[in-house]
Amino acid sequence: MEQQLLPPDYCMLKQQMQELANYPFARVGSIGCSICSRQIYSFSVGNCDERVLLAGAFHGMEWITTMILLRFAHRLCESVRDHTLLAGEDVTALLGNRGVCIIPCVNPDGVAISLCNPEKRWQANARGVDINHNFNAGWCELRELEIESGITGPGPTRFGGTCPESEPETAAMTRLCRRHCFCQALAFHSQGEVIYYDFGEHTPPCSLEMAQRLADAAGYQVEKPEGLAVGGGFKDWFIDCMRRPAFTVEVGMGQNPLPIEQFEPIYEQLEPMLVLALHL
Ligand SMILES: [Zn+2]
Repeated sequence: MEQQLLPPDYCMLKQQMQELANYPFARVGSIGCSICSRQIYSFSVGNCDERVLLAGAFHGMEWITTMILLRFAHRLCESVRDHTLLAGEDVTALLGNRGVCIIPCVNPDGVAISLCNPEKRWQANARGVDINHNFNAGWCELRELEIESGITGPGPTRFGGTCPESEPETAAMTRLCRRHCFCQALAFHSQGEVIYYDFGEHTPPCSLEMAQRLADAAGYQVEKPEGLAVGGGFKDWFIDCMRRPAFTVEVGMGQNPLPIEQFEPIYEQLEPMLVLALHL
């Protein structure tokens, strides 16, 4: 009988990371701790010198992105162990050229709050700061827009904090990126089936074409963000600071949190895109 799918609460996340650590070629660790002392786990496999970064669950209600990245990590490991193809590609060869680092859950406290209290519609971290408004990229301009929209203090969504990188989850991500020179980064959110690729003058010229290829692989659209979706986000910071391509991938379609029944079809649609991201 097939195992019943469950939302990725912290216990399950921990257990899945332990399972991944059993693969001798995989590296499992932590890039830091959340406000409530939960680990922000990392998984790496393949070439350490050149790596792609994939990160999910910046937002509490978007825990389906954690499930997607955990599934992808397991599928990568199985393909390497069994010498099988993944989405038609020889991933062992791909990973020899370029490795991957996966942060399945950037905001474990937010996910915990969202899973325990769905009625709160919680996206932020444990002290009400929206991690994806807390990065140091157009933060001041975004702060003004937040205030204009009536978001003046901590809450379930879109409060960017008192200063950029004020939150440990944000700082863990920027520290990781400063330490390792990732060639590109994909940040996973839900929902909309769109990919965002640009932020200001430092957007690499190749980003649009890359976004289009990623989008084509999943049947998604490429778009430019507007209003409160501009600035303060991880992909914005990565583009601005690392001067390398970064993308926000909005998975699935519907209302957050996306129902768990949508996980399998969403994953199936995304797997070719995830594999493409390894060698784009
Ligand atoms: Zn999001």
